Amino acid sequence: HHENQAGRRQSYHVLMMFTKINTSRTMQSKFEVAMRSMARHGRFREDEILVLHYVSDGGSKELAMRMLPELLHEANFQYEVVFHDVNGLTEKLFPIVMAMQKHFSAGSGAYYSDAIFFLSVAMHRIMPTEMKRIVQLDLDLKYRTNIRDLFQQFKHFPPEAVIGIVREMQPVYRHTFWQYRKENPKSRVGDPPPDGLPGFNSGVMLLNLDTMRRSELYNRLLEPEHVAHLTEKYHFRGHLGDQDFFTMIGMEHPELFHHLDCGWNRQLCTWWRDHGYGDVFQLYFLCNGPVHIYHGNCNTQIPDD
Ligand code: UDP
Ligand code: MN
Repeated sequence: HHENQAGRRQSYHVLMMFTKINTSRTMQSKFEVAMRSMARHGRFREDEILVLHYVSDGGSKELAMRMLPELLHEANFQYEVVFHDVNGLTEKLFPIVMAMQKHFSAGSGAYYSDAIFFLSVAMHRIMPTEMKRIVQLDLDLKYRTNIRDLFQQFKHFPPEAVIGIVREMQPVYRHTFWQYRKENPKSRVGDPPPDGLPGFNSGVMLLNLDTMRRSELYNRLLEPEHVAHLTEKYHFRGHLGDQDFFTMIGMEHPELFHHLDCGWNRQLCTWWRDHGYGDVFQLYFLCNGPVHIYHGNCNTQIPDD
């Protein structure tokens, strides 16, 4: 790789949201499973380094600093830990994402503190320009493969793609787009794979910061008037933050997204099966092929290997 010619180490950046972890035993055990499995399966070259970014508050940072050496002791590669203060990031984010918050946040108001749920959407404006790529990961994951292999997926991005992501594996967006689907019965919006557009899940996201910065289309879609236009067109009202925004713009501009194989974010939540969508649930939930990363979303137990 080009960075090595100057004798510099090549960095692989991953970022995790890590707030209020110190006050939750369940979040702590998810953190343990994620970091131990990432360390166990990780393989990197000698001149490479994995940079672990955590967006945290003071208490959670202290907890991470205390726990990480033990959780990562199986790592046979170089790593570095960087903490980002959640308040500092929120301050930078709020002006960029304020206008979209009301469409994609729980509750009626646009709370200042909700801005952080849109970090991925504006990551290219938050991180230094030297950083060209970053992978954002949930904490409720279990790695069954080398995290370095995930970065190889950036090579398969078509030129217009800015984000690599796995589809949502529940009919949640079939529900969200209910009115649009009724008005447009031939539309594939909210339909199951392989032919439909089921939306995205934000548990594993490859952000090509370089193309996010350069894409005129993507940056136009961040503007309040474009967000308003699309939310009206699709009658979109959600509460899942960045994942809702990406799902909505993906209906209009699928070329912005590179689809990762479902095994890179094998979601396990079955909530919508028991809430009115049992008849179509399996069409969405099915994921053949090897599981690289399990996602125990909605507090679902992850199977032992
Ligand atoms: N998270 C956090 N503190 C919390 C709850 C969540 O930092 O108290 C972060 C964590 O990285 C987590 C992500 O937010 O993985 C998304 O939440 P979660 O995975 O619980 O949502 P789900 O995948 O079940 O929708
Ligand atoms: Mn999750």
